[in-house]
Amino acid sequence: MKIVMLGAPGAGKGTQAKKIAEEYGVPHISTGDIFRANIKNNTPLGQQAKIYMDKGELVPDELVVSLIMDRFDEPDCEKGYVLDGYPRTIPQAKALDKALEDNGEKLDYAIDVDVPDEVIIDRMSGRRACLNCGATYHIVNNPPKTESVCDACGNELVQRDDDKEETVKNRLDVYHDQTEPLKQYYADAGVLYTVDGTKEMEEVFKSICSIVE
Ligand code: ADP
Ligand code: ADP
Ligand code: ZN
Repeated sequence: MKIVMLGAPGAGKGTQAKKIAEEYGVPHISTGDIFRANIKNNTPLGQQAKIYMDKGELVPDELVVSLIMDRFDEPDCEKGYVLDGYPRTIPQAKALDKALEDNGEKLDYAIDVDVPDEVIIDRMSGRRACLNCGATYHIVNNPPKTESVCDACGNELVQRDDDKEETVKNRLDVYHDQTEPLKQYYADAGVLYTVDGTKEMEEVFKSICSIVE
C-alpha cells in the first residue's frame, strides 16, 4: 500500500498519516520530521534544510529527493508507506514515479486533505509538536493529557519556529504556488481522492479508510 498525503501545511496530513500507518501496518514517512531530527542533531543536512525551513520556503528538490530515495531503501518500505509532506513539487512527484516505475510498482492513492486557508491559520497557531516522536497536538482541538507533555513519549511539546504567523503566510503562498498543482498531476494519473479536512479527526480518518478499503 503506497499512499501520498496532499494538503496545505496544517491540514492534518501528519495526524491522519500516523493513524493510517498504525491501522495498516506501513511506515509513516514525514520529510519534515526527518529534517527536524537532522536539525536537532545538527547534521550537515539539518544545517542546510534549516535555512529554508525557517523562512517557510521549500528545501531544494535535489536534497529532498536524495533523502527520500535513501529512506525507500530501508527494509520497512517493502510493505508500502504513507508519505506525509512528500512530494511538494512536480519534479519531486516525477522522481517518485520514476523510482516506482523502475521497480515495476505504482502509487495507489493520493489523498488530498482539503482545508480552506482561514482554518489553516487557526490550526497552525494552536499546533504544538513533539520533536522527539513527531506527534502533534492542538491547544484547543486536540490537547495533550498533561499540558506541554507528549502523550506518546513524555517529551516536552513546543511551538515550531515555522508555525509563527509571519512564516505561516509565506508557507501558504508557497503551497498554492508549488504544491497545489500536484492535485491535477495525480488527478491525471487517476489516483486522486479528496476528503473534507474540516471535519473532526476521527471522521476524516473514516473517510480515508473508506477510500483505502
Ligand atoms: P507541515 O506539517 O506544516 O506541512 P512539514 O513538517 O511537512 O510541514 O515541513 C516543514 C518544512 O520542511 C517545510 O515548510 C519545508 O521547508 C520543509 N520540507 C518538508 N518536506 C519537504 C519537501 N518534500 N520538499 C521541500 N521542502 C520540504
Ligand atoms: P500537517 O501535517 O498537514 O501540517 P497536522 O497533522 O500537524 O498537519 O495538524 C495541524 C494542526 O491541526 C495540529 O495542531 C492538529 O492537532 C490539528 N488538527 C489536525 N486535524 C484536525 C481536525 N480534523 N480538526 C481539528 N484540528 C485538527
Ligand atoms: Zn512524543
